[in-house]
Amino acid sequence: MKIKKFSKKPSDFEIRIGAKPIVCYPNSNIEDKNLTILHSARQHLIKTREVIIPPRDAKTFEVKSGEFFRIESVEGPQVGDLNLFSLNNLDEKFYSGKTRALYGTHLSVGDKMFSSFPYLRSLATISWDTLDWYDYDKDGGSVHDVIGTRCDPYTSKLLSNNDYHYCCHSNLTRALVNEKNIKLDEAEKIVHDVLNVFMLTGFTNDTKQYFMKASPVRPGDYLEFFAETDLLGALSACPGGDCGSEHSSDVAKCYPLKVSIWQVDQKYLKNLTPSNVSDYNRNHGIS
Ligand SMILES: [Zn+2]
Repeated sequence: MKIKKFSKKPSDFEIRIGAKPIVCYPNSNIEDKNLTILHSARQHLIKTREVIIPPRDAKTFEVKSGEFFRIESVEGPQVGDLNLFSLNNLDEKFYSGKTRALYGTHLSVGDKMFSSFPYLRSLATISWDTLDWYDYDKDGGSVHDVIGTRCDPYTSKLLSNNDYHYCCHSNLTRALVNEKNIKLDEAEKIVHDVLNVFMLTGFTNDTKQYFMKASPVRPGDYLEFFAETDLLGALSACPGGDCGSEHSSDVAKCYPLKVSIWQVDQKYLKNLTPSNVSDYNRNHGIS
């Protein structure tokens, strides 16, 4: 945190701090040209299956390329931590940090869930968000962040010296072990920084620390994605519930989440621009 100052301010400090901010990654080249097609296709969705994620637990689900999936609030306000993998290559997984660098701290309609290097392509595009009305509030808070990594037992141990086994990191790990027969050590290593679905977060104005507030999500709200390749998803119903008080404990009131998978006749998708793995030649300057 930049609140302790030990160094002397230089005499020319005023000219050093006056530069204008420049957006690091102007993103007009990745603007979603498919959104109009997705919005008309989603008028014809047919639900094919559902997975219920119990509170303080996680489940996996599979989505085929060209299908849509929704994460939905049921019963009460609840935050979900989402991991996404390319189904046939779990090394290609959601890259929260680069997605944040491209779109900012919180995601919504038209934003793409970019995958890790060396793939860097859209795994899924957000096609609908019933909470997009929230915008950014007076504290700079918003929903669906890519800044908070995920709650985990290591940070809980570090800060509170408590062994808690139902953080999202552990829930996601357990789901991969139990449902996909992946060894514990391997499963834990492929769990990655999440999209915090429905979570209301931001950075405090003074110290820029990560904050959370009670999520505005209510039963019936959903975040919808279009799968651009075959996907394995894993979703944890965070032990923080609506994350309005605390997480990494059994104190908060928690509710289930629902994942539903939807098909659409491919005739509605025929003009889509496909999502391709990066064609950078991976030379890295080594000749
Ligand atoms: Zn969590």
